[in-house]
Amino acid sequence: MNRASTESFIAMNATVSVTCYGSQAQVSESIKSSITALDFNTLSRTFPSSQIYKLNSQEASTVSDELAALLTEIKKAEVRSGKAFCADLGRVTELWAIGTENAAVPDADDLKNAIASAGTWEIDGNKVSLANGSILDLGAVGKGIACDYAQAQLKNSKCKKAVVSVGGSLLLYSAKDNEEFKIGIRNPDGDVNSYAVTLDLNGGFVSTSGNYERYFEQDGVRYHHIFNSENGYPAESGLKSVTVCAESGLVSDALSTACFVLGYENSLSLLESYGAQAVFITAENKVIPTAGLADKIEITNKDFSL
Ligand code: AMP
Ligand code: MG
Repeated sequence: MNRASTESFIAMNATVSVTCYGSQAQVSESIKSSITALDFNTLSRTFPSSQIYKLNSQEASTVSDELAALLTEIKKAEVRSGKAFCADLGRVTELWAIGTENAAVPDADDLKNAIASAGTWEIDGNKVSLANGSILDLGAVGKGIACDYAQAQLKNSKCKKAVVSVGGSLLLYSAKDNEEFKIGIRNPDGDVNSYAVTLDLNGGFVSTSGNYERYFEQDGVRYHHIFNSENGYPAESGLKSVTVCAESGLVSDALSTACFVLGYENSLSLLESYGAQAVFITAENKVIPTAGLADKIEITNKDFSL
């Protein structure tokens, strides 16, 4: 079990890395095919071959059973979070253009128009209805869903233990129940190798949303990429990051985004409704775990405290 091999590739606009313990490294090839197909055929907002692209461009209004099942779960998370996680904020993301050379604070009226229909999309069986001009943007759940797809491939393989990382989402996979994993939560003010805390977990899915992941600065103000669907501006809820541990990648990823928007207090009932746990890092560098993680967390950086 000690021998580990890691393979990395790019998919879903992120680096995917698959670390398998033992000698079953070839499963990373099937994970790569599965995630690449998920991106190209299903979730991408920018590949014309994807179903989401076709919905957004009004070329189609029905989706495969596979995507219908995902959209049903996504709608549930949107409703339960009171639209803090909102799947059709594509117009808002496009106006801010964060991550491109055109990133800038949008015109206030344009933002108002862009949020007017936020959260009004519907899924009924395989039929999806989108308000005129609305754009589905599954950027807040895609990487978590990719972890769910990776898990399906691992279950079909002889690999007994693996860690799959897709951008800010992780799958800690084990074929048995009592495997231990130690993971780091990033220092929101540090580089990619700097951690604020470590967590001991027995497996599952972990996603982090943070204000440091993608942002730009204008007139000395930092604007990050997680938006409040009520006003279209970057969410300000007193947090630098939220890490959520849940039973599925889709849920961990949707909730990390939702909790970042909601802030600590308002997130607790949402987390509870999913049986999920979380670690909040506040603007003052306080680290607040939910009850289920209190004895699994260790501060590893002197700038942070419990
Ligand atoms: P994450 O890093 O998982 O929190 O996802 C952030 C990405 O999801 C952004 O880059 C946008 O594409 C999209 N997004 C931003 N704000 C929201 C929101 N409130 N609900 C859903 N998706 C969002
Ligand atoms: Mg997310």
